[in-house]
Parts: sequence; C-alpha cells; structure tokens
Amino acid sequence: MNRSSDDDVLGLVASRQATTRAALARQTGLAPSTITGIVNRLLLNGLLEEGGDTASTGGRPGSILLPANSRERALVVELGAHRARFGLADRGGRVSHVNRFDIDIAEGPTTILRTLVERGEELAERSGTEISGYGIALPGPVDPQTGTVVGPSRMPGWNGCTVPEAMREWSELPVVVENDARIGASGESAYRRATSGAPSALGDYIYVKAGSGIGGAFVENGAPRRGAHGLAGDVTHVPVPAGGDRPCQCGNTGCLDTIASAESIRRELRAQGLALPSNDALIETALDGSAQVVTMIRSAGVNLGIALSHTVSFLAPDAVIIGGTLSAVDAFVGGVRQSLHERCLQSVMEHTAVEKSLAGTDSALWGLAEATSVFLNARGAHA
Ligand SMILES: [Zn+2]
Repeated sequence: MNRSSDDDVLGLVASRQATTRAALARQTGLAPSTITGIVNRLLLNGLLEEGGDTASTGGRPGSILLPANSRERALVVELGAHRARFGLADRGGRVSHVNRFDIDIAEGPTTILRTLVERGEELAERSGTEISGYGIALPGPVDPQTGTVVGPSRMPGWNGCTVPEAMREWSELPVVVENDARIGASGESAYRRATSGAPSALGDYIYVKAGSGIGGAFVENGAPRRGAHGLAGDVTHVPVPAGGDRPCQCGNTGCLDTIASAESIRRELRAQGLALPSNDALIETALDGSAQVVTMIRSAGVNLGIALSHTVSFLAPDAVIIGGTLSAVDAFVGGVRQSLHERCLQSVMEHTAVEKSLAGTDSALWGLAEATSVFLNARGAHA
C-alpha cells in the first residue's frame, strides 16, 4: 500500500469517474482485494463515506463511495392541499429531519414556493447542512420533462406553472418536480431498498396515494409509467356507481374523488352529524375505534377497489400498494382487497398482493431523495 494509490482512489471517487469498488479496480488496474484494503482504510480514516446501493450496474449491487464530510443536502418537499411535508435528503438517497407545516395550496406558486425556500434555509441552518437543490412533489398532474403543472383540479392558480422556472426567482439551484403519487410509487421501492438493504421485491405494481385526494401510478420494471404529458395514473376521476350525481371538482359527476377521498369522507360524516376538523382528526377517530368512521373509511376502500378493478384485471400486477394518510386505517386497505377479490379473476388475484405502504406518509420524500441524489452526486464531482 502506498499513498499514491490512496490518492488515486480518492481522486477517482471525487471526480465520480469510479464510485464502486469494482469500478475502482477496473480503473486503477489494481486487484479487487487491494482496492478493498485501500477503501477500508479510507473509510476508517474518514476520507470516504458510503452512500446508497448502485441500482443500474446490472450486476451485484455495491455501495456507492462518496468523498467524506459532505454537508450538501437536497430539500425534499411534498405539497398537499393544506400541508407540506419536508425533509433533507443526502447523496445516498436517505431522508432525515422530516417535519411539516400548514399551507393553503390555493395561495398559488409564488407564495408557496417562497415559503418552501425559506423553510429549507432555516432547516439547513439548524442542521448544519447546506441546501444544494430541491425536490418537489405536487398533488396534481405534472409534465416531468418540463416540471409544468397540467390542468390540476385541486390546485387553483397553478395551472400551466412551470415550477423550476418559478423557483428561479429565489434560487438558481437544480429542481426536480413530480406528481406526488408517481414519486411516492418510486419512493416505496427506494424505502424498501434502504431499510432492508436488498433490491425491492415488489415486481410490477400499482401504487395508490389516498389522502385528501387520490392519485396512482403503475411501476413497470422499476420505472413509473408517465403517459402522455405525465397524465398517467389518474384514478380519482374514474366514475363509480356509488358516486351517483355528486358533482366533482373536475366538472364531471360521480368520480371516485366525490366519495373516497379523506375530504369527501369528512363531508359525508358531517352530513351524518359528525364534524371532524381535519383529516388528521378523521384518522385519529378511526384509530380510536369509532365504528361510524371506520365503516365509512372501509366503504371508501371498497369504492377505490371498484375503481381499480379494471386496471388490475388488465395489467395483472404483482402488487397493489396502498399509501397516503387513509392507508393508516387497516379497514381502508381491507376494503380495497375485498373489492378486488370480488371483481377480478381468482387466477389474477392469487398473484397480486394488496398491501399497505411501508414508507407510509414519507414515500414521496423517499422518491424525491432518490431523484435528487443524482444531482447531489454530480455536484460532488466539482466540490
Ligand atoms: Zn372528477
């Protein structure tokens, strides 16, 4: 071992020319066992850090190596109608410092995006880190090529807004923008990989985010299908018989959204004389065992299953993963499962697991962390 091989390895990692042990062995011409020895010494001396696993090398996954002492983080934010969840993501695609604040999405992009940049700066200062970019998940259709919001029904004032452009008023840093359900679908796999250390075994799956609204995505070969202009994955505006002639925000009537979203469940309960002030209160009342609330949430799950049944029959996915706030109530997931088993062929359902999301309400943040780690690592090359 000599210092010049150590410097060679550090140089290759810092310039991102080689970030795994296998790549270092190829690039330096040194034996793999020699590289392992050098890397172990550099890790021990705090000159290198280990990041997430490589996903796209085709071979056995290996740890990504990073130059040490990186304070760079991406601010990852999921915007809802009334709330923003946010946290910091590191180069290895891990999420930390998750917190939330109340918003009103109807205040429009200027106010909301400015608030988000301010919150990010506060969080970076508190945690001794530095914001190097942003990942933003939105509760409406997003064209992922441009980051433009396309005809959202729940985001007044946002239609046509190209979010990375709007962000430039406050920040020149890179910005990733995606639909919340689609990035949540990727996040479910990223979370399972990060917590189990193994590749996600989900196969091809449908992911549904059920909260104040309902969004979905189909993940095939590890990638969510985006569809034309990023519009794939709509389940909330699928008409269901129980929706009757209830008017929907999209202009149609009888959409799933009118009876199965957390907001419409609360509206229905209010009509029955039970007023709950927030979606959190709805979930808490269900978890406290209120039969009236649990029955209503189960019925929402049944209707979600009805809306999904054609898609499940057509695609025969390996799994249907239910995320979002409503997934905290087992009866909701049970309702979806019941409907799908009643409506789809047994031969299909034998191979389709209907499960609750493991990443829960953090799945979008994990998906954004995976997406932003790309530019954090690219920046590392010039650090
Ligand atoms: Zn609708």
